[in-house]
Amino acid sequence: MYRYDLISCHDCGVLHRRRPLASRDKARCVRCRSVLYRGADPDLGRIAAITLGALMIFLIAQLTPIVRLEMNGNMSTSTLPGAVAIMWGQGMRVVSMCVALFTIVFPAIELGAVLYVALGLRAGRQPPGMHLLLRAVRKAREWGMTEVLMIGILIGLIKMTSMSKVVIQPGLLAFGALTLMMAVEASIDPRLLWNAADRLGAGQPLAPPERDALEHKKPMVACHACGLVLADAGQHGQRAQHCARCGCKLHRRKPDSVKRTWAYLIAAAILYIPANLLPVLNTDSLYGNKDDTIISGVVYFWDTGAPELAVIIFVASIVVPMLKLAALSLLAWTAQRRSHWRPMQRTVLYRMVEFIGRWSMLDIFVITVSVALVRFDAMAMMTPRPGALAFCAVVVLTMIAALEFDPRLIWDPIKDKNGVRHV
Ligand SMILES: [Zn+2]
Ligand SMILES: [Zn+2]
Repeated sequence: MYRYDLISCHDCGVLHRRRPLASRDKARCVRCRSVLYRGADPDLGRIAAITLGALMIFLIAQLTPIVRLEMNGNMSTSTLPGAVAIMWGQGMRVVSMCVALFTIVFPAIELGAVLYVALGLRAGRQPPGMHLLLRAVRKAREWGMTEVLMIGILIGLIKMTSMSKVVIQPGLLAFGALTLMMAVEASIDPRLLWNAADRLGAGQPLAPPERDALEHKKPMVACHACGLVLADAGQHGQRAQHCARCGCKLHRRKPDSVKRTWAYLIAAAILYIPANLLPVLNTDSLYGNKDDTIISGVVYFWDTGAPELAVIIFVASIVVPMLKLAALSLLAWTAQRRSHWRPMQRTVLYRMVEFIGRWSMLDIFVITVSVALVRFDAMAMMTPRPGALAFCAVVVLTMIAALEFDPRLIWDPIKDKNGVRHV
């Protein structure tokens, strides 16, 4: 038995033993039905090829203009980094930094690190810095938002067709292709690369402490980053135990998970009020000067004959943050009370919150694109307003709240069936 053959379920902690699968099969947790791993072992050459392709499209998307606006003989055009720079120049420094991180920096880290590690492993050696880079890939993927940006750009463009002529540029097509490539890239689990590194040479057999812990049902602990399951050395507190593979600090559950989730939730709930009351965007045009809040933006789309866009923005900006606050409060409250109530449904709820969290950034991306392109001095000018900062903060805080919550707390109070071991 190799050390990567032990798998602890990310959502409920049940310990499983890896078995070979057919290429299209999924292994699911016996208790909470989460997907543990998919298909056959990864083909490092294929991973490197996909990632290299994605990286090239990423560069084209970032460096070429997305769209050109024409208005009475004046022209305006921008790349994504250009749009971020304009937001920065308008005093929206925090918002522009968030946009840059979520759409430029994190996708770049994800693609660059996966390519570097896959090429190194393919050449038969562990590339230097591999553990740090794969940990960065996990974090970068939690925060990368290429697909949300793509929809944000499209909505921004539809909005602008009402005031000027819109000419599509290569950058927009590249972003479309990049969105598809990033979806393929997301199917490459960094843990596969850690396992591939383990397989180099003679493979890494299960170490004596882990064999002992398995046999005698002693406590075990799973690494948050690379997924390796180790014998619990019982050193929590002063001297932390570190993962034998990636060097990450180990803990049985995320420390102070419920308390921290509450803290971020309360901060997000407070900021949710100014985020909806303060204007997020100012439009100065020949028709006058007006401030828009999120909700008046929705009304604008509804009135101008684009009800489907009004619904998309309403759901992403108003409904999703509210549902997220409610769902995470429910999860934190039931975990705190060690409730036995519907653990399966609560796990599904958590997975949904994790999945939809990033979509609330949609309106921020629409604002970024609008501000960068609608710059026709006397005729039409759009500038961001303070509401955008509050709104961006709500999205980031609820995402952190979801990440701080440890879904295994849902299952901890539930009595195990015979023979099921958890970590
Ligand atoms: Zn599970
Ligand atoms: Zn680890």
